[in-house]
Amino acid sequence: MLIDAQTVLDETHVRKTLAQDWWKVTDCGRQVLGFSRPLRVDIRISRAGDKFLLDGGLHGALKVRCDRCLEPFELNLETHFHVYLIMQTPADDEEDVELLDEEMDVGFIRGDTIDLGEVIREQVFLSVPMKTVCRLSCRGLCPQCGANLNVAPCLCKSESGHPAFSKLMKLKVQGE
Ligand SMILES: [Zn+2]
Ligand SMILES: [Zn+2]
Repeated sequence: MLIDAQTVLDETHVRKTLAQDWWKVTDCGRQVLGFSRPLRVDIRISRAGDKFLLDGGLHGALKVRCDRCLEPFELNLETHFHVYLIMQTPADDEEDVELLDEEMDVGFIRGDTIDLGEVIREQVFLSVPMKTVCRLSCRGLCPQCGANLNVAPCLCKSESGHPAFSKLMKLKVQGE
């Protein structure tokens, strides 16, 4: 989703629906696994000189991994954002940047191209909470055998103490 910054004279409005497979997450160790529905994108780009203000909203749903049981589940994505993009020229100093609202995300445009895809991906990541849990009652994985306790209780619980200790006890008994 590249936009030629030179074609944005005053204001431009980008309304798009991105297909579910638009974002291919290759690193499967990640918390976010991709979209679970097409993503509705609505971004207004306003320009003032070499500065661009992006005012946008994303509506859809993500497939994310549960922190407790590691199973994927659907998380609603509903986020609004303001991002400042500044065209960077080699002669620029940082003074202008400091004058901007601190609450805003400030990015730089390299060359003449605004990469909306990059902005969208970043905002998607920002919208996801630090911890994602499939449901409040998620029991997670057994720390001993790794079984998903939402599916069925494992046998570790019925034994008293850690299995390593009971093994040790057996060795002791045999040695006596
Ligand atoms: Zn879970
Ligand atoms: Zn277990």
